Amino acid sequence: MNPENNKHMTSMRRPKFRLTRNLRKSILQGHPWVYREAIQPLDNGVRPDKACLAQVEDAKGEIAWAIFDPHGPLALRILSLESAPPSEKNEFFERRFARAWSLRKSWLTSSSRPTTAFRLFNGEGDGLPGLVCDLYDKTAVLQFDGRGPGEFWNREQISSFLQRELHVTSVVEKVRRPSKDEAPLLSIFGPLVTSPVPVLENGAKFEVDIVRGQKTGFFLDQRDNRLFVREIARGKTVLNLFSYTGGFSISAGLGGAAHVTSVDLSKDAVQECGNGFERNDLDPKTHAGLAADVFDFMKTGKETWDHVIVDPPSMSHSEDRKDLAVQKYTELFAQAIRRVRRDGEISLSSCSSHISFEDFHKITTESLSQARRKGTVLRVSGQGADHPYPNACPELRYLKFFHLTLD
Ligand code: SAH
Repeated sequence: MNPENNKHMTSMRRPKFRLTRNLRKSILQGHPWVYREAIQPLDNGVRPDKACLAQVEDAKGEIAWAIFDPHGPLALRILSLESAPPSEKNEFFERRFARAWSLRKSWLTSSSRPTTAFRLFNGEGDGLPGLVCDLYDKTAVLQFDGRGPGEFWNREQISSFLQRELHVTSVVEKVRRPSKDEAPLLSIFGPLVTSPVPVLENGAKFEVDIVRGQKTGFFLDQRDNRLFVREIARGKTVLNLFSYTGGFSISAGLGGAAHVTSVDLSKDAVQECGNGFERNDLDPKTHAGLAADVFDFMKTGKETWDHVIVDPPSMSHSEDRKDLAVQKYTELFAQAIRRVRRDGEISLSSCSSHISFEDFHKITTESLSQARRKGTVLRVSGQGADHPYPNACPELRYLKFFHLTLD
């Protein structure tokens, strides 16, 4: 797709890889990944040194087309099970882009509460492996999952789709882990955004700092859960732990919460949370923002709240450290549960992909038990419909959100 890779798209001799493990069924079911240990190159062992389109086969024959990534552990990311290669000629990528947009367009335009911030392309979940595109009003933010996808995807093609179909005025690339001498934000089309972008989420007003903010600027995946919090907030006192820029806090405020306390390590995020209360015409006296470490905060005082929300950053970055992560979540949740008043409510969340829904249920059970409380589940949910994942790949169903009432 980049000029380099185009060679592979047009030439008849594309790199081919042979599976050394029996992954045929899982690929045919839609699992999108093959790890480096499970392949061997054909064509005299030539391995391209840049990401490119490649064919995947096993002893029984050809199976799929994939993005070959010579750099990361995911050597192949499956693109297509069709026998013809994905190409400009059959508008393969254009069709995938259009499909992703049509999946979102219906719910975005049917809701009476406007939303202008959403994920347009969610990588593997949209058949666009390693490619993320978040829309913040008329600004699109691209992010690539590693060096290989960054080499493979054609920024100009994506950008011209975004201009044509979504009328964006600016396309930027946010580098995931920029090195010291690397700019964190690159311009692909239009002006480089430098100031926060005003957006609406179900009618709530937010300002998203794409340059300095976390991820692409906002945690879009919690949208449905924030709406739920808004719907149940009336008259309650709410403690929002790991509040970031106040997605849950402002939602609770708009839902009529009596008072909201937001706690986050980042001073800027807490400041923005307070600004958000004013921007949404909420009484600033109903909000207290605290720039503090949640773990320290929990050690002080004995105050309790009607509703406590706990949405920590990922605590598990690898399968090996999962036990430690489970223990950390359990302790944190048990402490949070102790801060819920009698008959109050708690929302527990985790974005760690190594923690499954089953694991999360066990963590919830253990934390309730440590806090000596009983819970009743009112809601089990996760990421919104703009974060789809292949059914065959539950690892990509990463967001857990459990809401319980407590005795
Ligand atoms: N619920 C938020 C997203 C939370 S992301 C939303 O809906 O937008 C996790 C947040 O935890 C980040 O803002 C990060 O600054 C904060 N954080 C990480 N470690 C922390 C700690 N020990 N104490 C307080 N905040 C922390």
